[in-house]
Amino acid sequence: MDRRKFLMGVGSLAFIRSPIAYSDTSLIDGLKSELIIANKILSNQGVFDAFGHISFRVPSGPGAFIMSYSKSPELVTLDDLAVYDKLGEPLHQSERVSFRERYIHSELYQSRPDVMAVCHHHSDAIIPYTVTNTPMRPVVLVAATIGSKIPTWDPKDYLPFVNSAEKGRDFAKSMGDATVALLRGHGCTVVGAGIREVVMTSIYLQRNALMLSQSLALGKVKSLSETEISKLRKILFAPDSRDRAWEYWKHKLDVM
Ligand code: MN
Repeated sequence: MDRRKFLMGVGSLAFIRSPIAYSDTSLIDGLKSELIIANKILSNQGVFDAFGHISFRVPSGPGAFIMSYSKSPELVTLDDLAVYDKLGEPLHQSERVSFRERYIHSELYQSRPDVMAVCHHHSDAIIPYTVTNTPMRPVVLVAATIGSKIPTWDPKDYLPFVNSAEKGRDFAKSMGDATVALLRGHGCTVVGAGIREVVMTSIYLQRNALMLSQSLALGKVKSLSETEISKLRKILFAPDSRDRAWEYWKHKLDVM
C-alpha cells in the first residue's frame, strides 16, 4: 500500500468521524477503545504509574502504530491518541509532545511482523532482575506467557533509555524473538499478538517477579520447563482464558 493510500486509510478514517461505515474504521475504533481500557487496567493493577505506555499496530499499515501522546496512562482518553509512522514520528502535526521512548514501539513493529501490541513499563517488582545476575524466569503457571528467554538490555555507551531510533534498533536486536525484555535499572518491554495478550503478560510478569523474589528467599527455585511453558502459553492465550482475564480486570475498573 502506498503512503497516500495508507494515510487516507488510517489518518483520516481514524481521526475524522465519518458517517460512512468503513470496516477498517470500526476495527481501528474498537482497538483504540481497547487501548484506553488497557491503559486504565495496567494503572489499576500497579503495572503503570505516572510512566509507561502501550500501543497497537495499525493492521493495514506496515510499521504504523497508535499510542497516546505523552501523558500518565491512567488519564489517557481517545483525544490523546495519535498515529505514528514506522519511524516513530507522529503522522499529523500537533503541539502535543510524544513519548521519548516511542522508538521502542516503532523499531519492534518494524523488526517483528508477529508483534501486534507493545507495552513498556517500570514495575518495581521486576527491577531487581534488571540489576542483578538472578535471571527472571517463569515460576507461576499463569506467567508462562513471559517465555523462557528474557534478555536484559544494558548498552555500554549510553543510558538504557530508548530516546532515538538508533537505540530502538539496538534494543529490538537485543530482544530478538523474546516476549519480554528487561532494561537495566529501568523496566521492561512486553510484546504480543494483541492488546489483551500484552496486558495479560505484563500483569503476570509483575506477579511472577513478586513470587520469584519470595521463592528465592526461601531456597532453590524450580521454574517452569520449556515443555510446560509451551503448553501453558497455548492455554493462556486461548480466547476463553485471555478474554476471561480481560473481563475481570476491566470489571475492577467498572466497580471502582
Ligand atoms: Mn521507560
